[in-house]
Amino acid sequence: MEKSIFVKIIQREIPATIVFEDEQVIAFEDIQPKAPIHIIIVPKKIITTLNEITPEDNELLGYCLNVAKKIAFMKHIHESGYRVVMNCNYDGGQTVYHLHFHLLGGHKLNHNFA
Ligand code: 5GP
Repeated sequence: MEKSIFVKIIQREIPATIVFEDEQVIAFEDIQPKAPIHIIIVPKKIITTLNEITPEDNELLGYCLNVAKKIAFMKHIHESGYRVVMNCNYDGGQTVYHLHFHLLGGHKLNHNFA
């Protein structure tokens, strides 16, 4: 299987502005930010979409949300507020097929989810 862009970032084959990394997760600034703060949070385990998660991934996915919270505090948006989003497949707007969360904040986000 072709390596995803995010695996290339994990393996340092392409550059990214990394804001957090440990053995399970990497987080970096989105290359085309949709808000003043737009961070992509990626579990290093290769899971292509939300459809592929299993109960074995529960801890890892919960951990990703803790990382999102940690970054929200680091970026000082925890009180003003922020949004955490995951897109699944074509209609959901997924473009990179390696499961990830978006952390968005830094201004008032609109409520147009559709
Ligand atoms: P998706 O559309 O799959 O939910 O989100 C993928 C996100 O990854 C998009 O917001 C896109 O801007 C971002 N992205 C795509 N390629 C790169 C890249 O090479 N570097 C970084 N930092 N972000 C990327």
